[in-house]
Amino acid sequence: MPDPRRRVPRTDDVLADPALAEPLARLGRAEVKRTVSAVQQRVRAGELDPDGTVDAVLLELPRVPVALVRVLNATGVLLHTNLGRAALSPAAVSALALAAGATDVELDLVTGARGRRGRGAMAALAAAVPGAGDVHVVNNGAAALVLAATALAGAGREVVIARGEMVEIGDGFRLPDLLESTGARLREVGTTNRVTREDYARAVGPATGFVLKVHPSNFVVQGFTSSVGPGELTGLGVPVVCDIGSGLLAPHPRLPDEPDAASTLAAGADLVTCSGDKLLGGPQAGLLLGDAEIVHRLRRHPLARALRVDKLTLAALEATVRGPATPTARGLATSATELRARATALADALTAAGVDARAVPSAATVGGGGAPGVELDSAAVSVAAGMATALRTGHPAVLGRVEQGRCLLDLLAVDPADDAELLEAVRRAASR
Ligand SMILES: *Cc1c(COP(=O)(O)O)cnc(C)c1O
Repeated sequence: MPDPRRRVPRTDDVLADPALAEPLARLGRAEVKRTVSAVQQRVRAGELDPDGTVDAVLLELPRVPVALVRVLNATGVLLHTNLGRAALSPAAVSALALAAGATDVELDLVTGARGRRGRGAMAALAAAVPGAGDVHVVNNGAAALVLAATALAGAGREVVIARGEMVEIGDGFRLPDLLESTGARLREVGTTNRVTREDYARAVGPATGFVLKVHPSNFVVQGFTSSVGPGELTGLGVPVVCDIGSGLLAPHPRLPDEPDAASTLAAGADLVTCSGDKLLGGPQAGLLLGDAEIVHRLRRHPLARALRVDKLTLAALEATVRGPATPTARGLATSATELRARATALADALTAAGVDARAVPSAATVGGGGAPGVELDSAAVSVAAGMATALRTGHPAVLGRVEQGRCLLDLLAVDPADDAELLEAVRRAASR
C-alpha cells in the first residue's frame, strides 16, 4: 500500500471540488485556502486519509470569515463584559443587516435633500423618554461623558463631583482620569461616604462648568452614608449632569435601586448619560438625553464628529428601543420556576445520555457594572468541574461558572431557543 503522505491532494484540485463552490463564494478564496492547507498538513502527517480531504475541509470551515467564536453564556452574568455585554434582539440583528446596505440614514427621501443623521434612533429614544427635550448618541458611555465634559466644562473649568462618586469602571479605567483628559478640573466635594447639598453649593462658583453625579454602578457603600439626589442640586445655577451608567430608560421592578433616565430627568437632572449595551440591551453606544439647548450644544461641538456612531449602531439601537423585549429584558423577566424547568429537562436529557448532570438552584447577577449586590434567582445544570475546559473550547463555546467543585451552567442568560444547542455542546464535551 502506498504511503498516504505521498498522495496529498493538490490545493487547486481541492479548491476545484464542486462541494467547495458555495463555501468559496461565502468565505472567499484566501479563507478556504487556509483551511485546505491545515487539512493537507494532517494528511501529510498521516492523521487523515487523502480521500477524506474535502469532507474534512467542509467540516472545519467557519460559517463566517471571522475568528470570533459563538459563546453560549451560561455564566449567570446577564451582561458579561468579556462576552460583549448585551446580546442583541433578533429585531436589532435584522436592523443591522438592513443598515449594511445603502439606506436613508442621512437623507430625506421625500425632498431628496440631506436629512438629520440617525433621526429614527433619536425619535425612538425621545418617544421612550418623553421628559427628554432632545437626544444625542455617541460611541459609548465614556464618550458621552467626554463630550459633556469637553463641551460644558473643558479647558480650565470645573466639574463638581462627590468624592464617593470618583469611580473606576473596570480594567483600570477611572472616570476622574477620563474627565481630566478633557482639560476640565475636578472639584471634589464631600467625603468617601457622605456628601450634602451644602458641600456642592459651597463648591459651585464662576469656574464651574457643571455638577456631575455618577451612579456607583459596580459597588455599594453601606453604613453611615448620605448622598444628594439630582433634585436637590437644581437651583445652583449650573447644569446637573447624571451618569446613570446602565441605560434603563424607565424604572425596572426587579432593580429598584438602579437609576433610570426618565426618573432622573423628572427629578431635575439637565442631562443624563448612559450606555447602550448594558440594561438597555442594545449595541455599544453612549446616550445623552435632556435639556434641548444643552444637547444641541453637544451635537454641534467639533468633538461630536469624532465620537459619532456608525449606521449599524443607529439601526440596532432604534430596533432595540422600538422593537420587542431584548434578550436582556427577557433574562431579567424570567422566573426561577421557568429556569428550574429548563434546567431539569436539560439535566434529565444529559443523564439519559450518560453524562453526570443535575439541576440545581443558582444565583445570577446583572453584571456589566450594573445592579451591584442584586442576586437574581436562577437555575443551573451542574456538571463535573473537569468539563469546564472542554466546554469552553468547543464550538459553540459554553462558558459556565466553576463553584464548589462543580461547573454550573446557569440558564438565566441563555436564550431558551439555544437549549438544544447547549445540550448538544455538553454532550460533545463529555465525549471528548
Ligand atoms: C459602564 C459605565 C460607564 C462607561 O460606559 P461605557 O459604555 O462602558 O463606556 C460610565 N459610567 C458608569 C456609571 C458606568 O456604569
